[in-house]
Amino acid sequence: MENITDYKEIADIIKDKGGDNFKFCYQCGKCDVVCPWNEVRHFSMRKLVREATFGMSQIEADDVWLCTTCGKCSKICPRDVKQVESGIAVRRMATEYGVYPPTANPIRSIRSNISAEGNPFGEERNKRADWAKGLGVNEFTGNMEILYYPGCYLSYDPRLKKVAIATANILNKAGVKFGILGPKENCCGESIRKTGDEELFRHLAKENIKTFVDHGVKKILVSSPHCYHTFKNEYPEFMVHFEVVHIAQYLSELINKGRLEISREYGKRITYHDPCYLGRHNGIYDEPRNVLQKVSGLELVEMADSKEDSFCCGGGGGRIWMDTPKGERFSDLRLDQAVETGAEVLVTSCPYCIANFEDSMLSRKESETIEIKDITEIIQEVIS
Ligand code: SF4
Ligand code: SF4
Repeated sequence: MENITDYKEIADIIKDKGGDNFKFCYQCGKCDVVCPWNEVRHFSMRKLVREATFGMSQIEADDVWLCTTCGKCSKICPRDVKQVESGIAVRRMATEYGVYPPTANPIRSIRSNISAEGNPFGEERNKRADWAKGLGVNEFTGNMEILYYPGCYLSYDPRLKKVAIATANILNKAGVKFGILGPKENCCGESIRKTGDEELFRHLAKENIKTFVDHGVKKILVSSPHCYHTFKNEYPEFMVHFEVVHIAQYLSELINKGRLEISREYGKRITYHDPCYLGRHNGIYDEPRNVLQKVSGLELVEMADSKEDSFCCGGGGGRIWMDTPKGERFSDLRLDQAVETGAEVLVTSCPYCIANFEDSMLSRKESETIEIKDITEIIQEVIS
């Protein structure tokens, strides 16, 4: 880039890709104060915004790829700069030019895996429903109450398959008529969109929408807040409006309607971690807590940062696929907060959070460990 015209062109491209709100920034720096990166290393969203406004973004730099889209900065910004959306606009440009610095390099293989098999792991599409074998789970048909969409992590990851199984067991116990789409299900596309790959996101969304419509789907139950966010807030861009419910909400509904009876005690102190895409992005704070408080014997304690101030696990914005060096992992800090409460169990409701917390557990001292559970794993234990 040599002259002012070139910079203006870049600024215009970023604006066209969704970064128009950058222009409202008046550089107050409040975003940098709340950003979790500044607990582990220096990172300035304020600087990224400044550079993008003048077309001076360095798309080859790691910084473009650090944001986890946790949403803390958007909540505090006095000028509605929409840092998350605008930051993705810069990634869209990088993706279009095929520029991935070492931090973001894994995105290349993730894209190929999702394109080929519909999941980021590159696992065979035909094995997508293997987790459900022997559980009496059927393929979804239009006369069923609800489609259960477990998503990629619960379908393939050995730790998270346990969450899909717990969910199916709970639904069966409550007598819910539900089905799955198995190999016909594709990745929801939420996280690949946040890496700037709009083309692949749109392809996945269209495929999923066609499958949902062909099968007569009206109501979708999800386990991941990322699937929830995209089905509820992003798929309507394609002129479709499915009813979307997250399992934390659905558990609350099943219990309140008397369809699910809690018959056992759970005599442990627990703390609940609000996933960014369930809490800050979608305002679901009460339902998971209400469900947990229905369990007798269970003591719920809050961490230092909870609800609107929840501390990101580090997995959003496609960061789940990128390497984060030890010493810079948000999940390590979050586990410290959980352990400080004296809780025996850290409960959450998001596959990325569980994956990151389990990973962080591997490097903790035995005296500072804590069990990591999805909310369904607790409920499964107290209903049978
Ligand atoms: S909080 Fe908003 S206005 Fe302030 S520096 Fe950050 S983006 Fe700019
Ligand atoms: S969304 Fe979160 S990680 Fe990204 S810049 Fe804002 S506060 Fe930092």
